[in-house]
Amino acid sequence: MSQYFALFGNPVAHSKSPLMHNAAFTALDYDGCYTRYLLLEGEKLREMFFALGLKGANITVPHKEAAFNACDVLDPFAQKIGVVNTIVEKEGKLYGYNTDAPGFLKAISEFKEIKTVLFLGAGGTAQSTSVILKEAGYEVTLLNRSSQRLEKYKEAGFETFTFETFTPKAYDLVINMTSAGLEDDAYPAPLALLEALIPQAKACVDVIYGKETPFLKLVKSYDKPCKDGSDMLLYQGIIAFEYFTQQAYKFDEIKNAMQKAFDIN
Ligand code: NDP
Repeated sequence: MSQYFALFGNPVAHSKSPLMHNAAFTALDYDGCYTRYLLLEGEKLREMFFALGLKGANITVPHKEAAFNACDVLDPFAQKIGVVNTIVEKEGKLYGYNTDAPGFLKAISEFKEIKTVLFLGAGGTAQSTSVILKEAGYEVTLLNRSSQRLEKYKEAGFETFTFETFTPKAYDLVINMTSAGLEDDAYPAPLALLEALIPQAKACVDVIYGKETPFLKLVKSYDKPCKDGSDMLLYQGIIAFEYFTQQAYKFDEIKNAMQKAFDIN
């Protein structure tokens, strides 16, 4: 019997998830179909999931907290961070997971001898990734434009700064976790701060994918090892696919299939 999957979010038109998952279904001979659904109201997520007869779903901005609330059973990490981006239906119950954070952790694992990490930004993506990095033994510091979003990080024991309170020092890995550069030509922090941070870093990462942001361009001008957000996107998708198919396939076989879809398109 065919199994149906969808991405819920607003917007969803730009997403590569249908392409990635359908490519993997085809390559692995799995009888599945993945589509996208523009969801305006997060509270309707559970109702729509069942109305569409889905086996699983991914959830993107702005409904990841609503997805958390829609689940019957939460994986311990999703429970801890309060954010769900993957749902699987089993015997009428919705199981919730977060694959953004482990996907990100895997994406940065190629950079060796990294201990201290500076996040530029403190939004939703920083929320899950900061916790998994801390659990994996990294020392995470957050630098954000405004102070409001930093409060909960401070309460969770992270070192936090705004541009005004920050003095640059050496961090092994500097990561753009903001949306600066996504639809504009903004840097995620004042240029003078970046020019003090990047030369001292061992590597830099931008979570934005599909374009070279001003941040990444600047990093490249210093010849630093770096990457954009493509691997994070790919790896969160592979881990979601593992949940969708109940671990029926190896990580690398899913990776090969999804990677090919990226390369072609
Ligand atoms: P949020 O809206 O939750 O947070 C945005 C953050 O960016 C805030 O910290 C905000 O600071 C900061 N910010 C926005 N514009 C600027 C600017 N011009 N200068 C400085 N800081 C700025 O966003 P998300 O956490 O959901 O997403 C962040 C990025 O992560 C996006 O670009 C998104 O595309 C990317 N992403 C990538 C994924 C992948 O798979 N590669 C997965 C998920 C997200 P302030 O608090 O001051 O407003």
